Amino acid sequence: RAAAPRGSWSSESSASSGCWEPQYRVVLLGDPGVGKTSLANAFAGVQDSAPTRLSRCLAEVAYERTLSVDGEETTLLVIDAWEPERRESWHRSHCLQVGNAYVIVYSITDHGSFESASELRIQLRSMRQAEDIPIILVGNKSDLVRCREVSVEEGRACAMMFDCKFIETSAALQHNVAELFEGVVRQLRLRREGKEA
Ligand code: GDP
Repeated sequence: RAAAPRGSWSSESSASSGCWEPQYRVVLLGDPGVGKTSLANAFAGVQDSAPTRLSRCLAEVAYERTLSVDGEETTLLVIDAWEPERRESWHRSHCLQVGNAYVIVYSITDHGSFESASELRIQLRSMRQAEDIPIILVGNKSDLVRCREVSVEEGRACAMMFDCKFIETSAALQHNVAELFEGVVRQLRLRREGKEA
């Protein structure tokens, strides 16, 4: 059976109850090697729980989990399918179209990946102009302090300029990973409440 819930993370998923209708799709973007798969694994807790049953095309790249945040449950389907080197532009545009929220990841040890993150933000903005979608800028590998090439201030300033949220994480140490995805849930709810009002 799946692992016991960790903190506010629930191990229950709608897939195991027979119907899977993810409430929200969260797409991970960022250069290769920045830690997207590691963050997705940390989110799903794959080390100690059975993988969620998903359709075959999603099984490799999507991680579903129900989080209890502020007393309310929300299911996130985290999609780790971004491959910037793929030539087919339909794949890139599909990734940029399907998300209800985006997590743009760079590595704090790689300034080039930070610059790519800005470019991704610009691409997203042009593809999804009319929509107010939550975007979180994530500086991953915060445990590698000696190799840091991007300061916290730089990350924060970039997020402010691009009007998105910011957090530094370490997928390796599981630091701030739960906070990241809880933040995504809160941002999604804020928009939902805005629409309902
Ligand atoms: P992706 O290509 O963006 O999906 O990146 P991966 O998740 O495959 O990670 C690339 C490499 O960075 C792997 O060797 C990971 O173990 C390592 N890595 C990922 N996140 C962290 C982190 O937070 N800290 C450290 N030290 N290494 C990490």
